[in-house]
Amino acid sequence: MAHWSNWSGRHQSEPSRLHFIRTEEDAAALAGRARDQTRTIRVAGGGHSHAPLVPNNEVIADISALSGVISADPDTQRAWVRAGTPIYALGPSLHQHGMALPNQGDIDRQTIGGACATGTHGTGRGAANLSSAVVGARFATASGEIEECGLTNNPTLCSVARLNLGSIGIITALELQLRRSYRLAESAFVTTGTEAEARIAELMADNDRFEFYWSPQTDQAFVKRMNETEDPAEYPLASEGKRVGWSFEVYPSHRAQLHTEMEYSVAMPDGPACFSAIKELITSDFPEVEMPVEYRSVASDDVWLSTANGRETVTISVHRDIEHDESPLFRACEEIFLDHGGRPHWGKVNYLDREQLARRHADWDRWWKTRDEIDPAGTFLNAYMRSIRPS
Ligand SMILES: Cc1cc2nc3c(=O)[nH]c(=O)nc-3n(C[C@H](O)[C@H](O)[C@H](O)COP(=O)(O)OP(=O)(O)OC[C@H]3O[C@@H](n4cnc5c(N)ncnc54)[C@H](O)[C@@H]3O)c2cc1C
Repeated sequence: MAHWSNWSGRHQSEPSRLHFIRTEEDAAALAGRARDQTRTIRVAGGGHSHAPLVPNNEVIADISALSGVISADPDTQRAWVRAGTPIYALGPSLHQHGMALPNQGDIDRQTIGGACATGTHGTGRGAANLSSAVVGARFATASGEIEECGLTNNPTLCSVARLNLGSIGIITALELQLRRSYRLAESAFVTTGTEAEARIAELMADNDRFEFYWSPQTDQAFVKRMNETEDPAEYPLASEGKRVGWSFEVYPSHRAQLHTEMEYSVAMPDGPACFSAIKELITSDFPEVEMPVEYRSVASDDVWLSTANGRETVTISVHRDIEHDESPLFRACEEIFLDHGGRPHWGKVNYLDREQLARRHADWDRWWKTRDEIDPAGTFLNAYMRSIRPS
């Protein structure tokens, strides 16, 4: 029997079919046949979502063979890349063309298609999420055809494709707005949670990219800064917090401990107060929690359903190891996040229903209307997506 699991093991599926897509033609045929047979399809990227976005008991399509850079244009700094390309492979390949992603997240194990589908982001006051780099997309539709859209060619469809939650079709390729290759110098220090909290505004203003992890039990904060540099790369790369290298060498860290994560975005001015309330809650009510709280920033964007849509953003995330039930901690934190106007990360845990999600996203109705037009039968919706579809 076919089996699929996400990275942490929190989500498992036994689909009637696990299909390994190797060509765009196969993707189109698979999508068309599923619709004719009234079966649903979800595409699996790197399986790093904590939200139930991939699970499906009908068809799960593995996209990992659709990998690599298709074309790159140094004049526009744009490239078409296959959607299954892991971010760790994308960095070196783009660098061969003198280009780089404008930003990356904490790890680089995701596929570019999966990362963009959920609004994956890194940190930096001027650094927007990966979905905002998407300027075009190609995908297999439920009618068994390949559709191409771009911000100038069918912008409405492209607005959904940028952050698509796996729900418009099988994305085979994305066109990304990139920038010239750049190097980063990373520096880190350890302080207390109180000190890190007090210095948020200063550290954000003084660094291109800044984040910290506060560890509840020790009250220690690991503060990390990344700044663009002309200094040469230093090989072999040092350990995290001390690296100087090309951006794709410095962004990723290694997450060895399996965990589950909740992350909310709040408007930048509300970040410190929200963090302070989370810190107080964990200290008083959850003294057993060991895993850190992470604090980052994301630039405002215009991407439909993006958690940074229309506002400079701070993201705050809480983690729980997989041996423990995360829900008491996460539900208590979610109340605080909601009190601060939070929007949940699409790839992480939240407990919101369709009305609560709709209230947090100005483009909710037109995102669904456009999605429903391209896939009226709901071939690309799983149980979770159906549960939040406007009724
Ligand atoms: C250890 C860890 C660290 C993380 N760090 C960060 C971070 O720093 N910043 C951040 O914002 N998030 C982070 N995340 C969350 C992660 O980036 C997102 O959940 C992301 O969507 C995972 O990408 P994936 O390739 O694993 O996609 P999956 O989880 O496999 O899929 C995500 C969604 O994309 C869809 N999808 C994937 N590929 C396609 C395709 N080709 N066509 C159509 N739909 C597709 C799936 O159907 C699903 O809806 C982290 C997660 C983990 C576990």
